[in-house]
Amino acid sequence: MLSVNMVAMAYLAASILIILALKGLSSPVSARRGNTFGMLGMGIAAMVTLQLDAVQNYAWIVMAIAIGGIIGGVAARKVPMTHMPQTVAFMHSMVGLAAVLIAVSALYDPQAYGIAAIDGGLHMASRIELFLGTFIGAITFTASLIAFGKLQGLLSGKPLVFAGQHWVNLILGISMLICGVIFCMTQAWLPFLLMLAIALMLGVLLIVPIGGADMPVIVSMLNSYSGWAAAGIGFTLGNNMLIIAGALVGSSGAILSYIMCKAMNRSLINVLLGGFGGDTSGGVSSQSAGSRPVKAGSAEDAAFLIQNSRSVIIVPGYGLAVARAQHALKEMVDVLLKQGVKVKFAIHPVAGRMPGHMNVLLAEADVPYDLVFEMDEINSEFSDADVALVIGANDVTNPAAKTDPASPIYGMPILDVGKAQHIIVVKRSLSPGYAGLDNDLFYMDKTMMLFDDAKKACEAILQSLE
Ligand code: NDP
Repeated sequence: MLSVNMVAMAYLAASILIILALKGLSSPVSARRGNTFGMLGMGIAAMVTLQLDAVQNYAWIVMAIAIGGIIGGVAARKVPMTHMPQTVAFMHSMVGLAAVLIAVSALYDPQAYGIAAIDGGLHMASRIELFLGTFIGAITFTASLIAFGKLQGLLSGKPLVFAGQHWVNLILGISMLICGVIFCMTQAWLPFLLMLAIALMLGVLLIVPIGGADMPVIVSMLNSYSGWAAAGIGFTLGNNMLIIAGALVGSSGAILSYIMCKAMNRSLINVLLGGFGGDTSGGVSSQSAGSRPVKAGSAEDAAFLIQNSRSVIIVPGYGLAVARAQHALKEMVDVLLKQGVKVKFAIHPVAGRMPGHMNVLLAEADVPYDLVFEMDEINSEFSDADVALVIGANDVTNPAAKTDPASPIYGMPILDVGKAQHIIVVKRSLSPGYAGLDNDLFYMDKTMMLFDDAKKACEAILQSLE
């Protein structure tokens, strides 16, 4: 059994490791090291917590670890990378639910949690902690479930808007606060349960008006909420480690949301209040896919065009991940570099289905980091590029974001692919991307569509290059 001081030291070490993990995860170069630090930190935190005096019944814990571990292990092996956002959303919902369940049981039996006052009730501080933990947890739970449903395609990705939506949210928010205050004053179950029910409702109402293209910000926002919910549980359990880890997740998620908002030209306040993008249709634009002519070409045509270029900028997107084409693409790039073609990759901050998705794919295929550029770094170079090769990307190249004020993605910065001398777009059809919008880029005179699976197309281009 560790002494109180040793527990504090171990928690401090674990917290430092988790901070180092976050630092490491900020760049693909150090991400692996960051992961190792994170696992080490969480391992220390879990081991130290398990030996605390308060932990008396190991049977339940072992059972929970076994069941959770098996489910997590199977999911980690089975869930494809492209389904990561919904998996993450589901995990966030579980954190929210855990926060609510712990708050309910702490209110039911404060003694068991060591937070009972002399009269057997709860101190005011504990009541406030329970109130905060419960409503943040409840909002996180239902909001994440709706996000999961939207990302998994179980629910429509279209924004659901109705008249007076913001007023309904405001009235519910105020009612929830009033119930919370009454609970803090009386410690009665009724206001607590009312507050919980309203928070569960609010979670749903905050997410339903969010349109498909804005989901990345929501996923990172829910990440932040789940961190604050965990920190709330930490206060209830009197566990410093959980407070620190929860606050780190909460604040890093909030910073990521801010960065994503900036990348998508959205207001963070609107995201927090729910309903930004609510006035958007999310449908395919007026001249829908298929009604306009496009120029289609073969892999040989693409190889010819690329081989005779001085500089090529490759724009990877979600389709690259679906096709798992990163290794074939890397081989293609190696041949081009050997042939003296200057190749760069342009990464949009919301390309794919999770932050950093494209960076992870390219790192997996050992694409040198010095060939990979973020949108802000490379956008000015498209006008000098002979070819922009778009592989499985769509929304992040859609000029409507700049030219069509009626478009749901209007205002979102895009990769300036349209400025390149020639454009090659590899995808299987003219189907829209995640935002459900037609893309004018496909119909430009200088665009050649290569209709194929991204992996097959890369292999075919490679063959022609060789
Ligand atoms: P998009 O979803 O806009 O487009 C992907 C394109 O890939 C589709 O048009 C599809 O066309 C094509 N595709 C699919 N499978 C294949 C395949 N096997 N081979 C070749 N092409 C394929 O992707 P982007 O990366 O451009 O944009 C990301 C979108 O996802 C944005 O709207 C963003 O807001 C949203 N999003 C991003 C998240 C994030 O955190 N990054 C999270 C949630 C949503 P076709 O079927 O014709 O082949």
